[in-house]
Amino acid sequence: MDRARETPRVGPVLAALARGALGDGYVPEVPERMLDGIAQLSSASDRKQLLASLRAMNTRSGALLLTGKPVPVSWLSQTQAEALLNKWRSSRIGLQRQLATGVLSLALSSLYGRPGPEWNRIGYQGPMGDAPKEPKRLSPLSIDHDEVLHCDVVIVGSGAGGGCVAGVLAGQGLDVVVLEKGGYRSESDFNHLEADASRDMYLYGMTLMNTDGNVRIIAGATLGGGTVVNYTTSFKTPDFVLDEWTRITGIEAFSSGEFEESLDEVSARLNVNLDSSAAGRRDELLETGLKKLGWHVDLLPRAVKGCTQDEQCGYCGFGCRPGAKQSTMRTYLEDAQAGGARIVTGADVRSVRIADGKATGVDAIVGPHRVTVTAKVVVVAAGSIETPALLLRSGWAAASDITSTCIPGPRLSASSTTTSGCGRARSRPVTRASSGTGTAATGRSSKLSPSIPEPGQPSSRGKARRLTGSGWSGTRTIRSARFSRGTRPTDGSRSPKTEVLGSRTS
Ligand SMILES: Cc1cc2nc3c(=O)[nH]c(=O)nc-3n(C[C@H](O)[C@H](O)[C@H](O)COP(=O)(O)OP(=O)(O)OC[C@H]3O[C@@H](n4cnc5c(N)ncnc54)[C@H](O)[C@@H]3O)c2cc1C
Repeated sequence: MDRARETPRVGPVLAALARGALGDGYVPEVPERMLDGIAQLSSASDRKQLLASLRAMNTRSGALLLTGKPVPVSWLSQTQAEALLNKWRSSRIGLQRQLATGVLSLALSSLYGRPGPEWNRIGYQGPMGDAPKEPKRLSPLSIDHDEVLHCDVVIVGSGAGGGCVAGVLAGQGLDVVVLEKGGYRSESDFNHLEADASRDMYLYGMTLMNTDGNVRIIAGATLGGGTVVNYTTSFKTPDFVLDEWTRITGIEAFSSGEFEESLDEVSARLNVNLDSSAAGRRDELLETGLKKLGWHVDLLPRAVKGCTQDEQCGYCGFGCRPGAKQSTMRTYLEDAQAGGARIVTGADVRSVRIADGKATGVDAIVGPHRVTVTAKVVVVAAGSIETPALLLRSGWAAASDITSTCIPGPRLSASSTTTSGCGRARSRPVTRASSGTGTAATGRSSKLSPSIPEPGQPSSRGKARRLTGSGWSGTRTIRSARFSRGTRPTDGSRSPKTEVLGSRTS
């Protein structure tokens, strides 16, 4: 997005609309911040469409089309702009409803995400002091020219799935490269400002929504993925779900005890416990009510070490300053680094290299540089939104097929986050290790990860290494919504235009 060109053209329109949305709370910095949010939109075509609509509504003809009156929107008073937003919100025209939702969420996060008079008015104290001066524990590679790296296993994504697989495989002597699209933020970077945390640690700066804007999709995008921003609740996958996975996939490992063993191993590594689950006032009220109803109520198991549950804990989703949260950044990625793994952050993997039906590596962009990684095995653990997108971009026709038999990956909790799970391993050496986003790389069953090579040995089908999936949740709704548009080709060729409902990633 050409900021210098867009600011004078759409700034005055954003200012008028933001005044309508925020009323007296409006501050002059909001339009610029809204442009920051627009710059982070996941899809280039959405960005283009929104900017074009904003430019158009500052002309008489465009305003007539979008507002019903030939009055450029930048001329509107606060009351008129508020009336326009309300009209758009209840409009039968999808574009107008989307405009209302988009403008409102951009304006609100631009105002409340940073310190200002509104914080005082609502009694929000903001971050509690500065971030701690904690030394960094991981040392990602710095890429300052185009590179070609070679390894046994390249892992796309460093979250619950990718981080865990990296730690286990590097720990067993395999040469592992981890490519993470997000940056590396650790305790000393956690300034607990919502605007910075959303921009720096969430996928597309938390701007991802479903097509009509009534569901926001949030996921982590930083070294450690969702495990750095999540709330650490760690339930084990219930038996009825494991049975269903076995029924759907035919993979016995899910209900033979093998998967559970892996969950035990992950729980041990993440120090999952009940010692940091003291109930707050809200929980006490909930507990009383549930008990009165005779419903089951119990403590939440959490993946934490030394969590004091004090006032800092209200900022859990912006990064854990005391380092109590046992994210993959604090656990498996440290194991991976100790095992010699190379970690590259800011590495946006654009495609998986496929030759003769086999994945042979990946191509990524790191700032202005191109990085190619060749590997015996490619693990795609880029989260529930980006994994299918990457596979589709890579011409992996099977991607659409995998998703139709989607099952959530290993699940330790039932959080409400909209991440979802996928899949089963294919007979080709692409194993998607994840929680939510790909095949559960779990247990010892050979079906799951057909061809992880022994250290130094070429891969041998069926001798799977013991992988543990450190998964977090999955919800099913996403699965069915994903492919309700666009016909799924029966000839194995790639779908002409499969729109991932709810989000479009370019
Ligand atoms: C606010 C919040 C709270 C949550 N709370 C809980 C909870 O309490 N308990 C629980 O069980 N679950 C919780 N979750 C869900 C949980 O964090 C996710 O289910 C889990 O992290 C998914 O793991 P994953 O490996 O599939 O993907 P992620 O952890 O999302 O990791 C995927 C990584 O891949 C990277 N990536 C994406 N595309 C590319 C690319 N092209 N190239 C390179 N890298 C790429 C992303 O940047 C990201 O870092 C929460 C999630 C959020 C957002």
